[in-house]
Amino acid sequence: MHYTGTIYRPPVEADSLLLQVTVGCAHNKCTFCSMYKDVNFSIERLEQIEKDLMEARTYHDRVERVFLVNGDAFVLNADYLKAIATKIRDYFPECKTITMYASIQNIKAKRDEELIELRRLGINDLYVGLESGSSDVVTRINKGHSIQEAKEQLERLNNANINHMALLMLGVAGKGKGVENAKLTAELLNITKPKLVWVGTLGVIAGTKLQEEIIAGRFEEATEIENLIEEKTLIEEIQLKNIPFYGVHNTNAIPLAGMLPRDKEKMLMILEDGINDFDEDAFKKTFKRIPR
Ligand code: SF4
Repeated sequence: MHYTGTIYRPPVEADSLLLQVTVGCAHNKCTFCSMYKDVNFSIERLEQIEKDLMEARTYHDRVERVFLVNGDAFVLNADYLKAIATKIRDYFPECKTITMYASIQNIKAKRDEELIELRRLGINDLYVGLESGSSDVVTRINKGHSIQEAKEQLERLNNANINHMALLMLGVAGKGKGVENAKLTAELLNITKPKLVWVGTLGVIAGTKLQEEIIAGRFEEATEIENLIEEKTLIEEIQLKNIPFYGVHNTNAIPLAGMLPRDKEKMLMILEDGINDFDEDAFKKTFKRIPR
């Protein structure tokens, strides 16, 4: 298989076939992110993609799920995505789902009928990096969308019957703002109804704009206890039914996963215990966040 640059995929896609269709991230401007700074954005040629599919067919008897690599593969126009999905179906007719990272602007760039056609070809379960439901926060981190756009575009996705997974980031609002951020984020989730909520925690990566903001005194990081209180508030405020809450990630102080609302009380108790017993100094000395 042909891969360029570091390949990132959601933890829950560990068993999916990873098929590279883009290199890097077309946006590449979120202030906290260093994931694709080492590569220029480009699009893989269909011939190369087909070669990889041919090769993958020789390794795998059965592929039910394909994850399109890399940072915002849904940026590809609908015709190119249709051509890729058709090739995948040629080589893996058993494939049920083609998934990838998608931004709000990627959705906005597609017409309703294109979204419906992409869903018909198996594109589903898009991973959308929302990070926060706060207008101030998404503007400050240069996420590339407003909260109003997120509401409108995720509704269009839902209308096309395309599920999405909401990717969130604890601590992204900064010191003293976690609870307010959690409430606004839960409000967004309750309206937009993701199929899964994924939660990571902000880490400050050397060389990012966010690091410059901290050095210049324009942003102050939340404490670890604040991050845990933010997560607790988020879980308290989510009112969705039968939704996996997935907070198991190497950036999180306390790994946490469960179904909401079934496991709500259990997860809140784990966080409450963690908050009561948390030793901030010891944590700082022994825990190092890496980029997601
Ligand atoms: S967070 Fe996602 S959208 Fe933003 S720059 Fe990084 S990869 Fe691109």
